[in-house]
Amino acid sequence: MKIIMLGAPGAGKGTQAKKIAGKYNIPHISTGDIFRANIKNGTELGKKAKTYMDQGLLVPDELVVDLVADRVNQEDCANGYVLDGFPRTIPQAEALTKALKELGQKMDYAIDVDVPDANIVNRMSGRRACVGCGATYHMVYAPTKQEGVCDSCGGELILRDDDKPDTVQKRLNVYHEQTQPLIEYYTREGILRKVDGTIDIEEVFGQIVKLLEA
Ligand code: ADP
Ligand code: AMP
Repeated sequence: MKIIMLGAPGAGKGTQAKKIAGKYNIPHISTGDIFRANIKNGTELGKKAKTYMDQGLLVPDELVVDLVADRVNQEDCANGYVLDGFPRTIPQAEALTKALKELGQKMDYAIDVDVPDANIVNRMSGRRACVGCGATYHMVYAPTKQEGVCDSCGGELILRDDDKPDTVQKRLNVYHEQTQPLIEYYTREGILRKVDGTIDIEEVFGQIVKLLEA
């Protein structure tokens, strides 16, 4: 099962992608996580990506496409995967379609997690990320057992720099301009499925499981 998660920043793509990956035992591939790991490790890719990420801009397509094409070719992706945060532009989607076609494959579903802009700033300002393992929480909607401490690894929780309100607004504008057209693209491909992302995390997941198993 090959799945793309679509939706605005903060819509819950990562939250749901992790749950899908767990239930169906397929890898969760987050380009945002890959860039953050590269930043943490001080790689050349990380240095380049950071200049864009800090401004709420997209990293250029050429830095993302080959990275994902290589990743989905790895052995653990043989039974499928869930892509979170990729593709984010039409050229990225076209490159993915082409790369899969060369392998005789195609995506099965593009799931649009639909959340209005009005809810997004609230979602992002409450999001907390673990500096150790990258797990994400929400201060109100998905709190840790002990405030400020990661449930998984005991690491420290932080507000991501790009989750501060000014940058969130910028990221939302970028989403509408560059990523939202993918809804039309995958509608035309016949694989778009929409879920209501404003309801409880478990209920959103219920909708997704239902559509995957329909
Ligand atoms: P994305 O990967 O789309 O940027 P996340 O999955 O990180 O978004 O979710 C953004 C924030 O909103 C996180 O703090 C997460 O815990 C919280 N969240 C995710 N889904 C829901 C939901 N259905 N209701 C309330 N909060 C949610
Ligand atoms: P995310 O963790 O998915 O919210 O991504 C955080 C940031 O990483 C984005 O705001 C972009 O700057 C960058 N990024 C992640 N995925 C992509 C992508 N597919 N294309 C371009 N930039 C990306």
